[in-house]
Amino acid sequence: MQDRDFNEECAVVGIFGRADASKLAYYSLFSMQHRGQEATGITTSDGERLHTIKDRGLVTSVFDDDTLKKKLPGYISIGHNRYSTAGDDSILDAQPVYARYDLGEMAIVHNGNLTNAMQIRSELIKKGAIFQTFMDTENLIHLIAKSNATNLTDRIIDAIKKTEGAFSFVFASRSKMYAARDPYGFRPLSLGKFKNGGYIVASETCAFDLVGAQFVRDVNPGEMLIFRDNQEPKSIQISSANPKHCIFEYVYFARPDSEVFGKSVYHLRKNMGSQLAKIKPVEADMVVPVPDGGVPAAIGYSQESGIPYEMAIMRNHYVGRTFIEPTQEIRDLKVKMKLSPIKEMIEGKRLVVIDDSIVRGTTSRKIVRMLKEAGAKEVHMRISSPPTTDPCFYGVDTPDKDELIASRMDLEEICTYIGADSLAYLSDDALIDSVGGEDHYCTACFTGKYIV
Ligand code: SF4
Repeated sequence: MQDRDFNEECAVVGIFGRADASKLAYYSLFSMQHRGQEATGITTSDGERLHTIKDRGLVTSVFDDDTLKKKLPGYISIGHNRYSTAGDDSILDAQPVYARYDLGEMAIVHNGNLTNAMQIRSELIKKGAIFQTFMDTENLIHLIAKSNATNLTDRIIDAIKKTEGAFSFVFASRSKMYAARDPYGFRPLSLGKFKNGGYIVASETCAFDLVGAQFVRDVNPGEMLIFRDNQEPKSIQISSANPKHCIFEYVYFARPDSEVFGKSVYHLRKNMGSQLAKIKPVEADMVVPVPDGGVPAAIGYSQESGIPYEMAIMRNHYVGRTFIEPTQEIRDLKVKMKLSPIKEMIEGKRLVVIDDSIVRGTTSRKIVRMLKEAGAKEVHMRISSPPTTDPCFYGVDTPDKDELIASRMDLEEICTYIGADSLAYLSDDALIDSVGGEDHYCTACFTGKYIV
């Protein structure tokens, strides 16, 4: 999936009990940049007040050493990488969301999408609340500020109980940090520990590896962890767990070196490829991934089928914007800027091309055309997930249903549209088998069976 049609739903991190909290948040956010490139932000607490820096842009462009040292002091930090899902892409909608209220100060970061956000917002507005942003995350701030409970912990619990949908939240006050996950556990959130003291929570464990933290466990669905000075994290089960983890994390979103929902993403993506080879074999000379998403599945396909694996499509990681409209001569400019075939490798060859998904179909069509123009004899597309037929309402930015090619065309029509010699997807059952066979996954974008 090269056209980013399904966009990652943001990354969150929280660091507690570390003198270098802002730096650790920075490196964690850097490792999770793939989950959001629109804006980034960090809030720290030095025990007396909260400090926030956020802006549009990448982690490395928003923060420098001086900012982290001088403007973000403290032993607690929370951070966020944003890809706009709810709200818009203005700086106002960058996170953390900060507020002063009657008990002091707080800041919050959120990964997910609250399905009853509009209803809560209009109730709050009727009662006189004024909102600064379009983000559903701001609802939480209002619910916490308006709660009748006398301490922040109980107010957060009150607010979370009124909230439906997908969320992994991290809150910071002057002296505490909180990490909470919705009862379905749609979005990932893991707990880690530093050897010489202190804790981390993050959307993906690849953050732990970079900052030298050990994975402890996932924050459980429906659970909230409270981090206080000189104490182990305290667990409160706010609502009973009914796990429905986002299976698309395994297909596409998460980094292959992360463990998500307790399993290695790389390993599962390879499984998807080998399942695909078993159920959708084809005679070919080489297996070629669409980089980067198709790489682990292509390795799995190659190992299972015995067809040699070749990196015959190279990806340019430094692609900027296109400033000219492609003419006929330089058609498909955007795709060609990102991907280019190694001609002498593929000339006259029959290729099995592995990608993680087809969303609108336009990119697959361009890739097939590019490979054929480069001399491929046959192009057989194999997709390591089922057809994406439905949009996501749980924190992933997706096109509308009628823009999803698989919602309006059958297999043969899609194959004709993209110009491939054959096309096959992984089945729903084979996808579930590839990730371990359990039924605790959300598969709504493949099946239309929505949980909330
Ligand atoms: Fe993930 Fe798809 Fe479910 Fe959204 S609908 S949470 S992308 S599996």
